[in-house]
Amino acid sequence: MSSLSETDFDIVIAGGGMIGVSMALAIASLNLRIAVIEKVERDHDLQPSFDDRSTALSRSSQSMYTALGLWDEIRDASEAIKSIHVSDQGRFGFSHISAKEQEVEALGYVVINRVLGDVLLTNAEKKKNIKFFCPAEITSIEPHKDYCNVNFKSHDSENIVSSRLLVVADGANSSARDFLGIGTNKINYHQVAIVGNLLTEKAIDNRAFERFSESGPLALLPIENGRTAFIWIVPTNEAEALLAASDDIFLSTMQEIFGLRLGLFSNLGKRSSYPLALKEAQRLYASRSVVIGNAANSLHPVAAQGFNLGLRDVATLADCLCEEIKKDNVDLGNVDLLSKYSDWRQQDHKKLKSFTDGLVRLFGDKRKSVRILRSAGMVCFDLVPGFRKLFVRHTMGLVGRLPRLSRGISLE
Ligand SMILES: Cc1cc2nc3c(=O)[nH]c(=O)nc-3n(C[C@H](O)[C@H](O)[C@H](O)COP(=O)(O)OP(=O)(O)OC[C@H]3O[C@@H](n4cnc5c(N)ncnc54)[C@H](O)[C@@H]3O)c2cc1C
Repeated sequence: MSSLSETDFDIVIAGGGMIGVSMALAIASLNLRIAVIEKVERDHDLQPSFDDRSTALSRSSQSMYTALGLWDEIRDASEAIKSIHVSDQGRFGFSHISAKEQEVEALGYVVINRVLGDVLLTNAEKKKNIKFFCPAEITSIEPHKDYCNVNFKSHDSENIVSSRLLVVADGANSSARDFLGIGTNKINYHQVAIVGNLLTEKAIDNRAFERFSESGPLALLPIENGRTAFIWIVPTNEAEALLAASDDIFLSTMQEIFGLRLGLFSNLGKRSSYPLALKEAQRLYASRSVVIGNAANSLHPVAAQGFNLGLRDVATLADCLCEEIKKDNVDLGNVDLLSKYSDWRQQDHKKLKSFTDGLVRLFGDKRKSVRILRSAGMVCFDLVPGFRKLFVRHTMGLVGRLPRLSRGISLE
């Protein structure tokens, strides 16, 4: 890193989680001097982004990593989803979506966050124009007219870097966003996602399942070594007992909800939990700074879309920066660029927020009339291929005005 000044950068990225590192990689080819400031080291048990969760990557995310030359490595570490089965416990309706019917190779790919992190970080660390400060915690931000200073603490010493543009990617509870005075709106779902993995008696075979029940949705996804990842969403007041239950009791409770479609569950892995809320930034930019990923929107995981949405933030910002560096008087943090990014992202953000929030409300409604309508809706959904196709295009991230990287087009 000797070619880089230790304190002066074109872009500083606050947060080196899944979105922050993807951002650094997305703009690395633009020959900008980039710094990433990350609080928790990659192999630390408490690294909050690259943990044991599994993430379903959509087509637009696949396209972006393809354009960045990373897809082959990610593909090797992931499992394809060839079909999705959605059902409602105790009701007649269900839906089935298949890759074959949609004429695509896969509906998505499932990768373990820690494994995705290894691919992203290993590639980012090879780039000469990306400098990592880690472990390093941002403690304050001072925006000026032409630059922005970021103060951070690392190994008990106080440090400062400056940048033309600060990219805020430090997650749902972003302190960088708070330092900039950007407020948030929040809906607490009073639910917790319990995640882990297990073995199923019958092979899951590239199929994903989402089962809605009285207590909340349960998703099963194929992961490496023939195992199955689960995301089970339960009311907060039931989570503690489930997390403390023995493996046998936990598995049999989950089995009761899911049924025997995949035979008996066994070999439960480590369980972890995540409280769920919808949190959105009230603005996407402030002076010399822009907000992306979970710092901009943190969604309920019911539709597995939060990270995919964040990657489209990354691709859009990279597109705007790529256009800016072609100009004579380049100014990476100018207000026109920031408002262009913000305008471009509004529709995608709005659509996905109302889609995921609507799903949570629809499937959380315990009224009998709503449950009957829901079952009927699922049957209709299953019978109308045109509607299904449109729905799948949305969840694949293929709707609206997509930036180049999300279409698989490189910026070089
Ligand atoms: C149970 C569950 C399942 C999910 N499944 C899916 C899925 O299948 N598909 C999908 O698209 N999305 C999914 N998501 C959403 C996805 O996990 C998030 O959208 C994604 O993690 C957001 O990444 P991020 O980098 O923006 O934020 P984070 O992952 O929160 O990373 C933020 C980073 O910033 C660092 N940081 C924080 N504060 C500071 C500071 N002051 N200074 C320096 N660094 C700091 C943190 O250490 C961290 O590394 C799921 C979410 C949950 C909870």
